Amino acid sequence: MAILDHTPAAPTTTVPAPAPDRARERHSALRETAQAELHAFEALGRTRVRSWQLDRLREQVAYARRESPFYRRRFAAGGLPDGTDGDELLRRLPFTTKDDLRDGYPFGLIAAPLTSLVRYGESTGTTGSPTSSAITYQDWVRGNVSTELSVGQRFGPGDTVFVAIPYELSFAAYDLDRALETVGATVVGVGILSAVCPIERTARMIATLRPAGIVCSPTRALRLFDLLTEMGHDPAELGVRTVLYVGETCSPAKLAKISRMWQAELISAYGTTETNSLALSCGHGRAHLTEDRHLFEILDPATGTPLADGTTGELVLSTLVAQAMPLLRYRTGDLVSVDPEPCPCGSVRRTVRHHGRASDRLVVDGRPIDRLDLEESVLSVPGTGLYYAAGVRDGLLHIRVECPDRPARQVCAEIADGIRARFRTDATVTEVDRATVGRAMDRMLKPGNLTLEDLEAAR
Ligand SMILES: [Zn+2]
Repeated sequence: MAILDHTPAAPTTTVPAPAPDRARERHSALRETAQAELHAFEALGRTRVRSWQLDRLREQVAYARRESPFYRRRFAAGGLPDGTDGDELLRRLPFTTKDDLRDGYPFGLIAAPLTSLVRYGESTGTTGSPTSSAITYQDWVRGNVSTELSVGQRFGPGDTVFVAIPYELSFAAYDLDRALETVGATVVGVGILSAVCPIERTARMIATLRPAGIVCSPTRALRLFDLLTEMGHDPAELGVRTVLYVGETCSPAKLAKISRMWQAELISAYGTTETNSLALSCGHGRAHLTEDRHLFEILDPATGTPLADGTTGELVLSTLVAQAMPLLRYRTGDLVSVDPEPCPCGSVRRTVRHHGRASDRLVVDGRPIDRLDLEESVLSVPGTGLYYAAGVRDGLLHIRVECPDRPARQVCAEIADGIRARFRTDATVTEVDRATVGRAMDRMLKPGNLTLEDLEAAR
């Protein structure tokens, strides 16, 4: 119009002309790149994944050596020779630990210019001083694309999905939030422990809006179920098809109970504050490792020896394409096992089960007991409710458990028998009432692992 129109322009106010939508173009270009990378990775075939990853690792190590103050110092001190390659490179790389992250707080491990960071987050600091994490726009979009692929298997236009995990300081809630929005779902970002939207309000909104899905921790799904039931609703009738659970591990016994109660499928997404998502569910409900962005090792937590697929060990990861914060052989402290069988969905990315944190293991008589194995042992006894707490006092295992359906004395005795048979140790098992459990959980940021101390504080 302006090119053809030679009439003098009338005086106008100086409203700036809209700039070309560079942000949108840039975002589209990054998305297309990330999608192409993901498809190219899936087309590799399982046998070529390892060599592809080792090539990326070499590049990531060179990048970290050049740009990350932390790794520059570490490699200079540790003498990792230039030109080391392949499995030899992986084997010789020193571990990176949570303590390294704490010491490097806030920017010691950042390799990209600070001006290129689009997000900065921190751990909650519930287990010591906080650690930081950061991402560039490309890091962010790469993660978003993986998450979209996963949530797009479950949700789409017409679906309302509640995101009931913490938005504060972390990336996971925003990542899932954006992915759900991109696949066409209607997102309700309720968060948790918020003064604006306490859990009672979330429950009322679920009854009103009848979402197709809820993103929350398994324990939160249980609490919401209780609250809705107390309000006179039948949660199974509200139309929730899928509970996407994050932030907490869960035994098969507990998952089965939650699934039965809600009449919904439970799928998981797993990640860490430092890395964002590390495993995302496919249409078959199995959690696929993000092997296109990370090289994973499963190691014996005590000796650092590699373990075979199917064996539970510590997940150790190396980023392959991270710009903001490359991490090399980072010890997550999470216990996982890789499924030996490939998933029927055909993805080259292996699937994984999360068994809790190595630090959550209870040690009784010098023997470690995995939380999840213990939970399975407790909650698979008929007559148990949904909640239990465990701890070790004076060398003896103590269990508090809810027994709503059968005489508590009988249920507790059966649990103690089961523990003796499975873990070869005695346990004191006593009943706890629902009201005490509820009070304890509502004040917890991560209500997954109730402890004896939590129950005592809530009395
Ligand atoms: Zn699959």
